[in-house]
Amino acid sequence: MDYQAVLEEVAAHARPYVGQGQVADYIPALERVSADRFGIAVADIHGAVYGVGDWEVPFSVQSISKAFSLALVMAQSHGSQGGDGNHGAPGGNRAPGGPGTDDIWKRVGREPSGTPFNSLVQLEAENGIPRNPFINAGALVVTDRLQTLTGDASTSMLHFLREESGNPDLAFDQAVADSEAEHGDRNAALAHFMASFGNLENPVPSVIQHYFWQCSIEMSCRDLAVAGGFLARHGLRADGSRLLDAREAKRINAVMLTCGTYDAAGEFAYRVGLPAKSGVGGGIIAVIPGRCTLCVWSPGLDARGNSVAGAAALDHFTTLTGWSVF
Ligand code: GLU
Repeated sequence: MDYQAVLEEVAAHARPYVGQGQVADYIPALERVSADRFGIAVADIHGAVYGVGDWEVPFSVQSISKAFSLALVMAQSHGSQGGDGNHGAPGGNRAPGGPGTDDIWKRVGREPSGTPFNSLVQLEAENGIPRNPFINAGALVVTDRLQTLTGDASTSMLHFLREESGNPDLAFDQAVADSEAEHGDRNAALAHFMASFGNLENPVPSVIQHYFWQCSIEMSCRDLAVAGGFLARHGLRADGSRLLDAREAKRINAVMLTCGTYDAAGEFAYRVGLPAKSGVGGGIIAVIPGRCTLCVWSPGLDARGNSVAGAAALDHFTTLTGWSVF
């Protein structure tokens, strides 16, 4: 496959969509990004990386971080993560894929919510257990777990993403984190509500602060495609060591397919047919298990919160290559 030629054709196809949609403004610091940006990158399972357009420009990962925090919690739960792993993680000696990795699933479900990412409505009827780890409530539970496992959820995430991307310069965007905290009443409400049901292990202010920092990390399409390589390699990291077992990687990919693109996951599966996770910064990562990981970025969002040009690009990529999972 001539990835470079495919990406160039995909970018040409997506061009008319660039600038369509709305740049997210409910976190005011996100609004400063130009809607005219577009980049796409592919990292194959052997480590080759290709890109077009703004593929090396950092942007706010926002909810894309949720796929990585889930992976890190699963890895930390059986102690196979490449970091120091010495934070007294409960279940640290359990076998990969053993019961320890399933603990998070007692506190968060894995069904599409059919409601907006920041909705409160299901939480009351469902006793403070969020539908899935990719809506905000579910991601807050995952961050809470990571905080317990590591003692510093957001720094662990940053180190994890630096290692997986091979980019030691990754950093938080303090302005975005502060802006989100200033306008974070909805996330605070979700966290307090879950705490009232006993579904948080750490104090609410600490959980939401780590969550805001985690979302504020800036990465490029190149960084995210490379960092997401373990999802295409069935849990293996770039250096051949194991982060997750194949069953865990399968599960993350499955939840990405069913819940990773807000309440448009059905539409996204129909158009693109790949596990994917989007963020309101305009990025989307997508995984072709056994082949490659893609990341596309263009800040204009549709009404559901997915990048308009990004979705068009991924749709065209799977149409051209025939590489959807279906
Ligand atoms: N930090 C954002 C929030 O909680 C993430 C939104 C997103 O990308 O879906 O509102």
